[in-house]
This record gives sequence, structure tokens and C-alpha cells, in this order.
Amino acid sequence: MVRRLASLAAGLTLIVYPIAPAAAEPVTFLPGSAGMGDPYYPLQGNGGYDVGHYDLNLRFDPDDHEVDATITITATAVQNLSRFDLDFSGPPITGVTVDGSPAAYRRDGQELVITPSKGLRSGSAFTVVVSYAGTPEAVSDATGRQGWLGTKDGAYVASQPDGARSWFPANDTPADKATFSFRVSAPGDLTVLANGERTGTDGADGDGYKTVRWEMRQPMAPYLATVAIGRFVVSEGTAAGMPNVTAYDPSLADESADLHDFTAKAVAWATGLFGPYPFSSVGGIADGDGSVTALETQGRPVYSGGPSDDLEIVHELAHQWFGDSVGVRSWRDIWLNEGFATYAEWLYQEQHGGPTAKEIFDRLYRKNGGFWDLKTGDPGQAHMFDENAVYLRGAMTIHALRTKIGDRVFFSLLKTWTQQNRHATVTTADFIALAEKLSGRNLRPLFDAWLYQTGKPRI
Ligand SMILES: [Zn+2]
Repeated sequence: MVRRLASLAAGLTLIVYPIAPAAAEPVTFLPGSAGMGDPYYPLQGNGGYDVGHYDLNLRFDPDDHEVDATITITATAVQNLSRFDLDFSGPPITGVTVDGSPAAYRRDGQELVITPSKGLRSGSAFTVVVSYAGTPEAVSDATGRQGWLGTKDGAYVASQPDGARSWFPANDTPADKATFSFRVSAPGDLTVLANGERTGTDGADGDGYKTVRWEMRQPMAPYLATVAIGRFVVSEGTAAGMPNVTAYDPSLADESADLHDFTAKAVAWATGLFGPYPFSSVGGIADGDGSVTALETQGRPVYSGGPSDDLEIVHELAHQWFGDSVGVRSWRDIWLNEGFATYAEWLYQEQHGGPTAKEIFDRLYRKNGGFWDLKTGDPGQAHMFDENAVYLRGAMTIHALRTKIGDRVFFSLLKTWTQQNRHATVTTADFIALAEKLSGRNLRPLFDAWLYQTGKPRI
């Protein structure tokens, strides 16, 4: 409708176009999809929006191990949304709002389905607040236990690949990275750690609780978020000019003797090979009983049961480039994370008086039978962390590439790859394309044999 006002003067007609015409085009709002269709984890992530920031506000009670949480998610709609999902299988929900108004919600398996009071227009920013209270439970599947892991004196978190939903509602896909703020309250005698930099501690309130704030300023996939609460021995220093904060449970003092100093040493070494470190702080957290594996939680890996040796620290720190900053878009390409992190261990040994990468490759190449049974580039969901198929043969794939294209191109490829894809997500095809471009060679047959065939490739 166009409103035509009375003539103000002879020959002059003022026409006003209302900002919101009463007879506007009808806008169609549709539900966002419940998953992103990952071949291994089809329900992970959700369609229709992109998260910019998570604000995780948790209060932890060590007596009953309950958390009282309020999570604020800032997102942008990428379609006209009538409703949308978050991934969440944590404690009972006490309330959900969207842009400050109460929103309808229901839980459907691992999906939290939220219907805002009015549709969200494509391109508009919106804020979701979810409150819940109770004891988070780890998620278990064929890849192991993951997510919120209770300890005697608190908890720590290692969520790869599917555990983020155990402790906070998220768009839990590696393809949707966001910045994170953590505000964690706990009794004053406990230590609180998280990803990134500690930005402050609010003094103990009337009941002896204090609130510790941490900030992850670079984009992070939800599965790489961590907090650790409990009794810790904390070391603070610098590594490559950045804050280095490491912590270990007092019962893991022996296993963690090297953690602080070696973390600084390994980051400096890796920076020389892989290019600038992608985050603004570094560190490590040793907690728990070793019943789960170490995880490359962003900027501050967690070592369950303490680091098993220095090479484990090299591995988790190499993931800061390969896996965390340069993330996989699909779990099927997990060899890109684990192959490079394992190959970093080989390079570290080669450059520090150990066996050369070629010697390690040659020893493994002599293996027969089951070692070659799975496809490195598509091992299957249950085998995505298979030591032989993904870690060792992933590293062998990288060594076969190095042998083919030569050291000069190979080491330049590593830096170009991490630089071009900093804080992004990638596919195996992206890596092959860059390797071919920099080497000027057709590398399809090599990658096809090493990644997508079973059996021992010919060399
Ligand atoms: Zn790894």
C-alpha cells in the first residue's frame, strides 16, 4: 500500500512509502534441518543458522556434581526460520528464550527443538538463552566415552566427536566455529580452567563461591571446548610469546613433570614447521584416570591420566594447526587431523635423534594382513580413531606424499595449507588440490591408493 497524502500545495503531492507495508509480500518461514548430514554423524549440527558466539555460564556444586547453567548463543539466521534445533542431551531444561521472549521447546533424542514466538528472518541476528540444571552425563558410542567427565573433585571435558551435547546446547558440527566466553562458578578452593585466556576472577560470594572467566577469542568448533574444575597444580609462563597455562591434578604429578616446559618447547618447534601458532595462548590440562584418550581441546589440550610421553604432547599440539585451526568439515576426513598429528610425532623424532620418518614408514610398510583392511580416507564411524587405518596409515600417506614431491615442496605445502585455511574447515579434496598445485604433479593415483583402497599400496 502506498499512502497518498493530501496535496500540500498546488502541483505537489507527497507520497510516503510505509516502512512495513500492510500488504507486504507474504514471508515463508520453514524449520531448520535437524542435522547437517555428516556421513558418520548425520544429526550433528543443525540447518538454518550460523553461531557467532557462545557464552557458557556454569555453576558447579562439587557435593552433588550438579551444574546450574545458563547458555547464551548469538547466531544469525541463514534462512527464514519458523523453528530450529540445537544439539543437546544434557540435564533437564528450566527455560528457553529467543530474543528475550519465552520460546516453546521440546526434546527429541539429541535434538532440542526450539520454536520462537515469531519467525526469524534470514540474515537477522538472534539470541537464544537456554537454562538447565542437573548432572551432565558423558556420551558413549563406538568411538568411546566423551563429553563431560566427572572426577572425584570436579570434572573435565573431552568431547570428540559427539560429546559437546552432553554439557551445553550447541550447533555441534565442526563446520560451525564460534568464539566462546566461559564464566564458571565453583567453591573458592577449587581451580577452574577452560580454553583461551583467563580474563578475571570475581571474588568469593556469600557462600564461598568464586566465578572465573575465560575467553576463547579465535573461532572454535564446539567439540573442542573444555572446562576443568577441581584441585590442580597450575603453572603459568610463556611460550612463543604467548601465555602458557598448564595444570595437573596433584595425583598426576609424576606423569605431568614435563607438561609445562615441554609444551613451550614443542610449540616453538611446531611453529617453525607449520607456521604461526593459530591461537593466542597455549597450555595443557592433566586430569582424570586415563580411561579416555588425550584430546586437542583448542589452545589447551586435555591429557586424561596425564601425558603418556612427550610425543603425546607433540601430537596434541600439532592438532592445534591440523584439526583445530584447519578443521575437517566431515568426520570421514578425520585422517587429515590424525595423520598430520601422527606425522608430527615422526618429524619430531627425526629431528631429535630418533628414527627418521622413513625408518618408521619402512617398518610399518612391512606389516601385513589386518593393518591394511580399512580405507584411511573413509574408515567408517566406528573406526574413525582406528590406530592402524587412520593414525599410522594417515601418517604413511603423508610420508608417501613427501617422498613423491620432495622436501622443499612438502614443507612449503604444510605452511601454505595451515595459512590458507586458518580457522576454516576443509576436505581431503582441498588438500589434494593444493598438493597438486604446489608440486605441479598429478597426485590422484597416490591419494587414491593410500586413502581409498584397502590393501598395501605399491611403492
Ligand atoms: Zn590425535
